[in-house]
Amino acid sequence: MQLYNSLSHKKEEFIPHEAGKASIYTCGPTVYHYAHIGNLRTYIMEDVLEKYLRFTGLDVTRVMNITDVGHLTSDGDTGDDKMLKGAKREHKTVMEIAQFYTDAFFSDCKKLNIKTPDVVVPATSYIDEFIRVIQALMDKGYAYESGGNIYFDTSKLEKYYVFNDFKEEDLAVGVREGVEEDSNKRNKADFVLWFTKSKFDSQELKWDSPFGTGYPGWHIECSCISMKNLGEYLDIHCGGIDNAFPHHTNEIAQSEAYLGHEWCSYWFHVHHLNTNSGKMSKSKGEFLTVSLLEEKGYNPVVYRYFCLLSHYRKSLVFDWDNLNNAVISYNKIIEKTALLVNDNSGDIDGTEYDRLMKNFTDALDNDLNTSLAITALYDVLKSETNSVTKIALIKEFDKVLGLDLIENAMKANQGEEIPEEVLELVEERKNARKEKNFTLADEIRNKITALGYEVRETRQGVEIRKI
Ligand SMILES: [Zn+2]
Repeated sequence: MQLYNSLSHKKEEFIPHEAGKASIYTCGPTVYHYAHIGNLRTYIMEDVLEKYLRFTGLDVTRVMNITDVGHLTSDGDTGDDKMLKGAKREHKTVMEIAQFYTDAFFSDCKKLNIKTPDVVVPATSYIDEFIRVIQALMDKGYAYESGGNIYFDTSKLEKYYVFNDFKEEDLAVGVREGVEEDSNKRNKADFVLWFTKSKFDSQELKWDSPFGTGYPGWHIECSCISMKNLGEYLDIHCGGIDNAFPHHTNEIAQSEAYLGHEWCSYWFHVHHLNTNSGKMSKSKGEFLTVSLLEEKGYNPVVYRYFCLLSHYRKSLVFDWDNLNNAVISYNKIIEKTALLVNDNSGDIDGTEYDRLMKNFTDALDNDLNTSLAITALYDVLKSETNSVTKIALIKEFDKVLGLDLIENAMKANQGEEIPEEVLELVEERKNARKEKNFTLADEIRNKITALGYEVRETRQGVEIRKI
């Protein structure tokens, strides 16, 4: 498989460190608020990557952190404490906020058919490990104490800006956002490994350490959680493109300083989801969540489909018209699949199966081109081959695409489910008719009509239909 590597700025053949296996690390959510659908685009595309690697026969292990401590509002260690901010907003403790939004995150993921990673580690459960690695970095001369905090010394590295797109000027971003400059740093790019001098009076979570009572910086958690669970060599590190700098740059700095060798071979970055007014963010007011999609009547899986229609390395514009177009094309696929699911006649046509499967794997082998993979799905539906072959292919494709294609096609065939309330009324009406109370039977029929259903007596029994 060819995969674009942000480190080398080109597509490369994916060769895992250990043949037959693939280790993936994913930066997890900071659990102080709901994830917006822009964040979830990243997790959807990472999920497709993981599922496709499994599809190709690799034994994949994927690890994710949950940031429940240490992440300030600027990714460069300035601003407010995100968790504390969430707790204040909702008058809860930091741990209550963390639990609530961790659950909310996984509930959203489930609705979007995003598999839970094999290992999920809340940062607060790894404090001892962070302290151990920070101590090792101190011992090796890569970290220093200043003003009560422990900093990573970026001047000790041969090259710090590993993702060539970023330069020292980018560090001015923090200044532009109006956040304070940290005068304790020896070099502009240095970052915090451990805070002891918290500027937040009400800091709830603090731990004793050889460097003083305090809490870890955000960047160290991913390095430690990855190395502890996936070893010294990581195959693929995933995340949103905005994490490349400074977060991933810092992860590489500290991990390689600690290990003394290269750490992660492939960096997979998913680009932004934009609205017509710019990049989607929590602070901008346009706060689109999975719950909001559901409230508006969208099946969350359709949002997943919408994401798959575009390449992960392109910014994607979200608006309701675009989503509605995705609904129309998704429903078309379901309708066409529904016509095939009950036809079991004949055998799989091996030649056609292989040809159509190759379209699909060629698309995904080419830097996870999901939009061409959807085209490959259309090719299956359009092809002249029999239903058995088509359904076999659709089932296989959906192991990667995760669009509930067969399930929703079967549902479409069964018709929409009739609400319990209507079924109860139909039963009552049946009894009324049995007792020859036709006035009551008519009253009940009116109620059923008001609920949007029609009930008729047929030779086969009572028939209920949506009006
Ligand atoms: Zn991370």
